[in-house]
Amino acid sequence: MSQPVYVKCNLCHRDETRPLIKVDGFSWVSCQHCGLIYLDPRPKPAKELNPAIVEPGADYYIRKGYSRDKQNYYKKYLKKFEGYRKTNRLLEIGCASGGFLYAARDCGWQVKGIEYFEPTARYGRDHHNLDIITGSLLEIELPKEHFDLVIMNMVIEHLEDPVGTLFKINRLLRPKGVVYIHTPNYDSLTLKLFPAYPKFFPKGHFYFFTVRTLKKALKKTGFQIVWKKTRGFEFPKEKGGVPFLKRQSLRLLTDLVSPVVNILGKGDRVRVLAEKGIVS
Ligand SMILES: [Zn+2]
Repeated sequence: MSQPVYVKCNLCHRDETRPLIKVDGFSWVSCQHCGLIYLDPRPKPAKELNPAIVEPGADYYIRKGYSRDKQNYYKKYLKKFEGYRKTNRLLEIGCASGGFLYAARDCGWQVKGIEYFEPTARYGRDHHNLDIITGSLLEIELPKEHFDLVIMNMVIEHLEDPVGTLFKINRLLRPKGVVYIHTPNYDSLTLKLFPAYPKFFPKGHFYFFTVRTLKKALKKTGFQIVWKKTRGFEFPKEKGGVPFLKRQSLRLLTDLVSPVVNILGKGDRVRVLAEKGIVS
């Protein structure tokens, strides 16, 4: 693996941070000026830490998006974007093997995907005839003001330059087109109670957003938020057998806490839909 490199804040370009937490030998810091949370130093290149590449179960990542459950879920979710369909063109960044694109095409969208892991991209192209380009958005030429909708589902936290990517997305969207972002939320109740919960710090994540920092990044890159919400709360999974009564009690407690967490905006994951405006 290459040597780790120190990086400046991707959002405000300053270089003054405070240490936040160390997990698996990696240091997470928070920018003292804008609050962006990131890995510093970080390994380079990004591809070396992507779980789809380094873990033996890559096949799982390739096929999971095509299950009947996932397809039904995607189609239901796609209904949220119907009001934005004008050019009928949808771009997904980090589309993996294309399960979401497959569902979108079934719903009548003209779809394109970008995926930097070639075996997953190839699966979507070869098995489902999907238009998936291998690479990173910042290196790929695409027509301007072309898409109604750009999707980043659990992707922005993996990018080396999330703000640069948002600027480019803004240029690719038609006027009033929208970007949808789904990413882990650092400002969640789960992490407040269990700060080093390993599930939240998988290999391959470089950034950790909150509603606040995501709003700042979107404003800077010329977007206005249409809606935002957070979802999810959970107790860390214990290894080995957990007694039945304890398991049931934790489940009950989770069911009670989750709705409150969602209302307070302290859920584990943030979902944001933002509309293209003018870059100031
Ligand atoms: Zn900053």
